[in-house]
Amino acid sequence: MTPMKVVVCVKQIPDPADPGALDPETRTLKRDVKLILDESDSYGVEMALQLVDAAGEGEVTLVSMAPNGERSGLATALAMGAASATLISDPELVGSDALTTAKLLAAAIKGQEPDLVIAGAESSDGYTGVVPEMIAALLDLPSVTAAKSIEVDGDELKVKRQTDGGYDSIECPLPAVVSVTAGVVEPRYPSFKGIMAAKSKPVDEKSAADLGFGSDQVGWAGSGQEIVEVANAPTREAGEIIEDDGEGFAKIVAYLEKMKLI
Ligand SMILES: Cc1cc2nc3c(=O)[nH]c(=O)nc-3n(C[C@H](O)[C@H](O)[C@H](O)COP(=O)(O)OP(=O)(O)OC[C@H]3O[C@@H](n4cnc5c(N)ncnc54)[C@H](O)[C@@H]3O)c2cc1C
Repeated sequence: MTPMKVVVCVKQIPDPADPGALDPETRTLKRDVKLILDESDSYGVEMALQLVDAAGEGEVTLVSMAPNGERSGLATALAMGAASATLISDPELVGSDALTTAKLLAAAIKGQEPDLVIAGAESSDGYTGVVPEMIAALLDLPSVTAAKSIEVDGDELKVKRQTDGGYDSIECPLPAVVSVTAGVVEPRYPSFKGIMAAKSKPVDEKSAADLGFGSDQVGWAGSGQEIVEVANAPTREAGEIIEDDGEGFAKIVAYLEKMKLI
């Protein structure tokens, strides 16, 4: 049996229960609070651990880009069973946009030569939902999105890709980058033994320069994007009430057809 190496991208985010605030000048989320493992990424960690279990041999490693050397979220994923982590953290990275984030993650992943890269379909905080696809493009690997299940068969990957009406069956060669839909597996709770073991697992901290990036290529200087405005989401309007006069079902069907839901 060939050992399987899976890299999981894990974003560490402010606790959604206490998400902090936006910086009024840069309009980005203030991330100088304690960060936690994004729940969206706990599904990727679980899927990766299950794939390595199924392969019989191999390991799951993590990559994360986060400010202030933050490791709390990594500790959770290591306690779940990942073997080690690479943490990209550097004051120069403040202001990095999605593409810069993807470039740094791709550079950290490249050296590890994984069989498979797993990421969340979209993160729970300032999500753009583009980072996994950008990583695939940068590494010149196939990209499969919105996976609800992943199976490895030799050098082939078989993915059930979630759609509005069910799923598509996708096959592609390995190595590949797969983004995982939230909620598709039950992430394991770290055991006490896992939590203790995580304390001695290696976390390799890298700066932008370690990954070959100059200060003009990262952070605000390297960003091709600018956040020009942040607005509150519109409040939800009251729905239409349909009184059943004997023809209520027809009105509901007509409404659903108009919304292209049936
Ligand atoms: C102009 C600009 C300035 C910004 N400045 C900052 C800043 O100063 N500080 C800051 O923290 N953010 C900043 N951001 C946000 C930063 O760009 C996002 O962290 C980045 O775009 C990726 O997050 P996402 O939620 O959009 O990824 P998505 O594409 O929604 O995430 C999908 C998956 O990709 C993976 N992933 C995404 N981000 C990471 C990560 N950081 N580490 C590991 N895996 C990851 C995860 O698996 C995640 O589930 C800025 C954005 C812009 C546009």
